[in-house]
Amino acid sequence: MSSTDIYGRIASLKNKRNAVIFAHYYQPCEVQKAADIVGDSFQLAKYAEEVENEVIVMCGVRFMAETAKILSPEKTVLLPKPDAGCSMADMVTPADVRKLRQFFPKAAVMCYVNTSAAVKAECDICCTSSSAVKAAESLKQRQIIFLPDKNLGGYIRGKVPEKEFILWDGCCPVHNSVTEKDFTNAKNRHPEAEVLVHPECTEGVQKMADFVGSTSEIISRISSSNNKGGYIIGTEAGVYERLREIYPEKSIYQVSNDMVCADMKKTGLQDIVYTLETGTFEINLPEDILLRSRASLEKMMVACG
Ligand code: SF4
Repeated sequence: MSSTDIYGRIASLKNKRNAVIFAHYYQPCEVQKAADIVGDSFQLAKYAEEVENEVIVMCGVRFMAETAKILSPEKTVLLPKPDAGCSMADMVTPADVRKLRQFFPKAAVMCYVNTSAAVKAECDICCTSSSAVKAAESLKQRQIIFLPDKNLGGYIRGKVPEKEFILWDGCCPVHNSVTEKDFTNAKNRHPEAEVLVHPECTEGVQKMADFVGSTSEIISRISSSNNKGGYIIGTEAGVYERLREIYPEKSIYQVSNDMVCADMKKTGLQDIVYTLETGTFEINLPEDILLRSRASLEKMMVACG
């Protein structure tokens, strides 16, 4: 099938099923083009609650599809590539959270959205990178266990110094792999460029940056400014590709060509056609997990608007 035919096929299947296609910014460009809504985790979570379609096709990884299901349990949520996972989400289990609660009984437990529904169900509040600071500030407890990303946890600790943080030793292998040397090299090549990084990067890399923010915050900063020396970005390659496409007139550079999340690149256009044609790879969650994980996501929504 030619690419025009395949986009046409997706459009007709979407109409037939009353479906909407969501894609994360880290998805391949051709998948982002097929999507009705492209966003970061927080934006997609909000849209999942708002859209009226009966079916959501989540082009992303499993925890994103689970989050859509938790927030819209009445909808059918399809994950076109069922083995697309997140290695950071796999670094913590519900049993780990229960043990932490025993060690730190007075602490609140805050989890990054990059966790399984079963882990979210054990936590007091969930957050995304763009909502993390507000979510932490909203907690009445002074002591906060944050999991699984130690780098994002360190970033929040810097922004909310009045709280005491206990950080789980997890990380995103893609963001954590970027070194200070990578940034020095990129800066040497483009000395006037502004450096923007995601808070999943290491503390050392964050310190070298002019701006630290979520994917949508990085995109919004580049779209609303015009730095003549350009921009060096430290986040997954899909963001770079999207920015290059939207702003061909801006000089945008990647800190490293290795910032590619293999799981995010698993989904292709044929997978979207297949899931829409067959209705397979539906996300289903046990009722108690659904209810308890929903409570932690709803607290985030209330805290962050
Ligand atoms: S980029 Fe990192 S955090 Fe995001 S899905 Fe891939 S492994 Fe998980």
